[in-house]
Amino acid sequence: MRIEAPELLAALPRLGVERWPGTALAERTYFGIGGTTDLLRIRDRQALPELVRLLRDYGIPSRLLGGGSNLLVADGELPWVVLQLAPLAPAVQIEGQTAWVDAAADLGATVTQCARANLGGMEGLIGVPGSVGGALRMNAGAYGTQIGSFVREVVVYRAARGVIETLRGEQIRFEYRHTSFDADDMMLAVKLELVAKPFAEILHTIRICNEKRRASQPLNQKSAGCIFKNPPGASAGRLIDELGLKGFRVGDAMVSDRHANFFINAGAATCADMLRLIDLVRERVRRAYGVELEEEVIIWKA
Ligand SMILES: Cc1cc2nc3c(=O)[nH]c(=O)nc-3n(C[C@H](O)[C@H](O)[C@H](O)COP(=O)(O)OP(=O)(O)OC[C@H]3O[C@@H](n4cnc5c(N)ncnc54)[C@H](O)[C@@H]3O)c2cc1C
Repeated sequence: MRIEAPELLAALPRLGVERWPGTALAERTYFGIGGTTDLLRIRDRQALPELVRLLRDYGIPSRLLGGGSNLLVADGELPWVVLQLAPLAPAVQIEGQTAWVDAAADLGATVTQCARANLGGMEGLIGVPGSVGGALRMNAGAYGTQIGSFVREVVVYRAARGVIETLRGEQIRFEYRHTSFDADDMMLAVKLELVAKPFAEILHTIRICNEKRRASQPLNQKSAGCIFKNPPGASAGRLIDELGLKGFRVGDAMVSDRHANFFINAGAATCADMLRLIDLVRERVRRAYGVELEEEVIIWKA
């Protein structure tokens, strides 16, 4: 979608918003899939309420992009603009055993920066790509660690009411790849409470996690991580693997031959190819096991 209203275009620089017209989301997502739209990069978080109100006044729908590592985006000209928080510096501010982190910060870089201050606990999250805001939305987790366990406060723009609020950790439910935030809440910053540990010990655990990831995941291919959530008591990847579906493809959308719950864009896959592959695999699992797989990847349909 192109922003055309001259008054709106004129307001963007005043709000500190950079407009990147006709951005291909294929270049902004780890899947390498997604059509084009105007991307609005927001530096001044306090300008968000006015920006969102203006977009609403002009009838322009919007979506919020983090690092693009858990997204499958529709093909072609997209019917909404995309907002993205521009990174701020410093992204991480340490106070004792807590760290205030900007939502646009890279999650892995945050884990490393905290480690350098002898603050650990989040080592398991080291290889989870994307932003801290996206990790909060998804309650990202790996190797027995989930980000929600460390959250003490979150500064969030509550788009439904047009206000920026600070929520305490106890006010938010963090579940398996799900949180109780409202669908249009935008996380702006988080206060994490970490565990005091020597840097060398944290680094050792980080190395183990990185090795495990490298051994089991197709990290040099375009994917969005796990496509499906694990059903209760089972592994989605194992169910798919047992059906012999590794390497199964629709066009260039393919079930990874390394990890059956990772689907990859093996060349020029479209969103339509990937959606078809997701449906076919889900159907095969349903027929074989009577299990309904639920997507972990977030799908932005046009
Ligand atoms: C190779 C690979 C490995 C992965 N491994 C793991 C893993 O081990 N564990 C795991 O949990 N995930 C994993 N993922 C998935 C993904 O990295 C996580 O879900 C990540 O936390 C998403 O963050 P993001 O910033 O990229 O979000 P995006 O993909 O940009 O967005 C995901 C959702 O979050 C919302 N969002 C983004 N930023 C904000 C914000 N500031 N406020 C509110 N909502 C926001 C978006 O609107 C969207 O709905 C993996 C992905 C890849 C490609």
